[in-house]
Amino acid sequence: MSNDHSADDHPHPKHELSPVAKRIYAIRELLLEKGVLTQRDIQQQIDYQEARSPANGARLVARAWVDPDFRAHLIADPKAACAEIGIDATSINEFVVLENSEKVRHMVVCTLCSCYPRPILGRPPDWYKSLNYRKRAVNDPRGIMREFGMDVPDNVEVRVHDSTADIRYLVLPLRPAGTEGMSQEELEKLVTRDSMIGVSDPLGAVPKS
Ligand code: FE
Repeated sequence: MSNDHSADDHPHPKHELSPVAKRIYAIRELLLEKGVLTQRDIQQQIDYQEARSPANGARLVARAWVDPDFRAHLIADPKAACAEIGIDATSINEFVVLENSEKVRHMVVCTLCSCYPRPILGRPPDWYKSLNYRKRAVNDPRGIMREFGMDVPDNVEVRVHDSTADIRYLVLPLRPAGTEGMSQEELEKLVTRDSMIGVSDPLGAVPKS
């Protein structure tokens, strides 16, 4: 018996590439062959895309919760506020931060396709791109919020914002009650991606034992 664990010991199902994927690989090979791009350029771009995640948005929100000057700056000039803490939002044309209040809750959708503040939140979740969400966000935003665990009282207004190629939105959720003593780093962990799309509240304060 051999302990040579060759690939043949574990037959994998064949993954046939789709025509689109085949075309992408062919274009990549050509760009490399012609010297337009290097393998390093491609890897750097992949790393850059992967590095963009909701952690960026959580930093913005938590900082705004603890620092009133930063909060004002973030609302007045979101891209400049991003640059101030090292987040590159330059690829967004117009970036708007929507501040939730006791009277208003904001919710973000792209009814046309899947426009999303990727530099701030990374890749959009599949449900955000679904036809179901895009339709229901307009017709029944409160119903969606309820399904995500957020019950918005009738006396609180719900505003739905439709993203476009030019305008991207980020919701600045309300700071959860009972978090007064928490540091910015602790608060960041409460800021969920969904709370920055506006479909749910941030996580609650963790009781100190
Ligand atoms: Fe879109």
